[in-house]
Formats: sequence, structure tokens, C-alpha cells
Amino acid sequence: MSQSLRAVRGMNDIFLDEAETWEQFESLIRDWLKSYGYRPIRTPIVEPTPLFRRAIGEVTDIVEKEMYSFEDALNGEHLTLRPENTASCVRAVMQHSLLHSGPKRLYYYGPMFRHERPQKGRYRQFHQIGAEALGFAGPDIDAELILMCARLWDDLGIQDIHLELNSLGSSEERAVHRAALITYFEAHAEQLDEEAKRRLYSNPLRILDTKNPDMQALVEAAPTLMEYLGEESLAHFNGVQSILKDNAIPYRINTRLVRGLDYYNRTVFEWVTDQLGAQGTVCAGGRYDGLIEQLGGKSAPAAGFAMGVERLLALWQSSGGEPEREVPDIYVVHQGEAAQTFAFRVAEDMRAHGYSVLLHCGGGNFKAQMKKADGSGAPCAVIIGDDEAAAAEVTLKPLRDGGEQRRVAADQLADVLADLLFAVEDDDGSL
Ligand code: ATP
Ligand code: MG
Repeated sequence: MSQSLRAVRGMNDIFLDEAETWEQFESLIRDWLKSYGYRPIRTPIVEPTPLFRRAIGEVTDIVEKEMYSFEDALNGEHLTLRPENTASCVRAVMQHSLLHSGPKRLYYYGPMFRHERPQKGRYRQFHQIGAEALGFAGPDIDAELILMCARLWDDLGIQDIHLELNSLGSSEERAVHRAALITYFEAHAEQLDEEAKRRLYSNPLRILDTKNPDMQALVEAAPTLMEYLGEESLAHFNGVQSILKDNAIPYRINTRLVRGLDYYNRTVFEWVTDQLGAQGTVCAGGRYDGLIEQLGGKSAPAAGFAMGVERLLALWQSSGGEPEREVPDIYVVHQGEAAQTFAFRVAEDMRAHGYSVLLHCGGGNFKAQMKKADGSGAPCAVIIGDDEAAAAEVTLKPLRDGGEQRRVAADQLADVLADLLFAVEDDDGSL
């Protein structure tokens, strides 16, 4: 196949078994979000570029080098494929005045786009599930967001995951800390790498996030924001922690957790696993009280998280959480002209009764069709010849447990299948 027609690097096709795993996962996720009162929001995949520049911040990895931005060839608008969904949610909430009727718990699900170096767990089109709680100021909602994640890990049977927690304080507290950091790094300028030097005055906090091993000791000894938190920020942080403790959620305070996006304040957290190599952060979130105002709206508090679906699915699978493959209830085999006409009727009738039916298409002899029926995984085949068609009957053949095949009147088939497929054990264990 010509190289130019292949999918864009870092953007994946998802199909068949894997796509079914995704769908099962998605339905589980929706139930989980709804059980906490979160309601869906769907925003466009393309937004005006200034939205992300203003929301995420100019001096961030995303805005500096990861955005798919382009000029609309028809009207010259500057557009960007969304690299995350919080900015769009906040835009939509402002545009439609959703907070007028009180705080909102919202969730989104869908593809995001970042121009990164593709590797395991890091793609250029990837998917996120996110929850955003808008209009809530207290530590209760921060804690609930975290508890929610813990319940999902439980539901999915994921054990190898831990919580890292930090507080970024208020913008005033950060400003004082920022000044202290600059003074500290200036005093050790000879130990800074190029990236750190570049960020020293624009975003010194991000230096703490460096992956350069030569700078670890320097960063380790830097002044922490925790030392600069005021009374209110401390009370908020303690509030979150006490709910986590009440609910037996273990966590580790990581004062170097700063997150890659600019809009966070107070609580930030990440759920991290050792199972996925370098791409170990499965979920990241926190509070972003300043964002709505920063985008020109009426100030309102907010908190949320985003999970990487590809990483979460990989972790689910490594925890043995592969769902069962779906198979049709019956496979309909038919031979002859009258039989085909009748087979279509029987198949539609069974679907109307709620069964999933794979109707053999494409002809072939009886043996070949039975082979297909076997390969489909269906628990039984419904066999129709011209004989059966003339008598308005079908032959029902169990495929898995060696049961006897038998003739069944077509108008009885739905009931007979119900007995066969959904035989439920009584309390005493008998069928
Ligand atoms: P990282 O440090 O791994 O680049 P990030 O801080 O950029 O992550 P966020 O913007 O917080 O990530 O996104 C939330 C989650 O989305 C991440 O924790 C991760 O699970 C997932 N994620 C982010 N970028 C990618 C990507 N390129 N491919 C797959 N998943 C991603
Ligand atoms: Mg990133």
C-alpha cells in the first residue's frame, strides 16, 4: 500500500475484537460516571486556537510544540484540533451560561490530538475520559473526584495503581514561591540545562518537572510551594486529605507534582502505575478555580480530571480484565430458494424477539456453512432447507454442548431458544 495512503503516524485504527473491548469499556465507564451524577457534554473537536493558548498557557509543552494548528483555507480562521477537553468544556459552559442554574457535574469522552513522538502509551490521536465539576469550591468535590477514580479501579479489578497528591496553592502563594525559586535557581545557574535556563523566568515551576537526571539533586533541594501555602490553602488541602483518610484511600504527597498545564491551583493529583513503563500516568486532575475568569467569564471554582483511555485499557488488560468476546445467539444456515426466503423471515423474527442473529450470506454448501456457524462462536445453529420452509419449521442444532438436534415450529423458536440460552439455575442448583 502506498505510504501516502496509510494512517497518520501515531493515529490508530481500532477494529474488531479491540473495538469491541473499547465499546464494553465505554459502557462500563458511562455507568460509573452516571453513578456519581455526572452528565455528558460533547464539544467540537476543532476550536479557535486562542482558546487553547489562553487556557493551557503559552509556556507549556502542549502550546509550545504539541498542537495541531492550521489556518482554515476558506476564511483564514486559526483553528486547532483539541489537545484536551477542559478548555472546550469551560468555553461551552460560558457560552451557554450553564452555571446560571447552579453547579454542574459534567463528563466528556473522545479523541484528543497532540503532536508527540509516538511510542507505547503515547499517541498523536488518543482518547480521554474526563470529569469536570464546575461551580464547586470546597475540598469535598476534590475528594469525591479522587474517590470516584478509586472506585473505577476497583470496578475494573486494577490494583497496581497509586495516588500522588499535591497542592499548588493560590496564584499569590505561587508568585511568592516563584520568586523564591528564581532566586534559588539563579544561585545555582551553572547546574541548569538549556531548557531550564529558557524556563527560568517564564515558568520556573516547570523546571521542577525536569526529567534530566543531572538536575535531580538540584530540584530535590529547591524550595517547595508547601512552605508558602497560606491558611486557606492549607485548610483546603487538609480537607481533601481528611476525606481521603475517612474513606481509606492511600496517597503519597508529592511536592514536585506540578502538572503540565498552567490552569491548576490548590489540589492536583495523578494516578500512576508501574505496569506501563515510562507512560505510567493513567489519570491526572485537580482544581482550576481561575480558568473561567481567565477566559473572560464570571469567576467560578472548578475541579476535574482526565484519564488516558489507551493507558487505562492496557492496564485493565494487564490486570486480567479482558472482557468476554461477544458471539451471536444463533447462526442461520439455509439451502435452497424457498429456504432463503424463509431464513430471512426467521432471522428478522428472532431479532424482533431480541436475539442476535448471524444469517449466512454468500451461499456455499451445507458443510461449508456449518463450518462458518461453528467458527462464529454461536451456541446453536438454525438449519433451514426447503423441507423445513414448506413445513414452517426449523432444525435447531446445539453446537457447543453436544445436545441433540431437533425440529421446532418456527413460531415456537423464540421460546425454545429462551429455554436453551437463558436457562438460569434455581437456588437449589437445579436447572
Ligand atoms: P504526560 O506527562 O504523559 O505527557 P500529560 O501531563 O501531558 O501526560 P494530561 O494533559 O494531564 O497529560 O492528560 C491526562 C492523561 O491523558 C494522561 O495522564 C495520560 O493518561 C493521557 N495522555 C496524555 N497525552 C497522551 C498521549 N499523547 N497519548 C496517550 N495518552 C495520553
Ligand atoms: Mg504530555
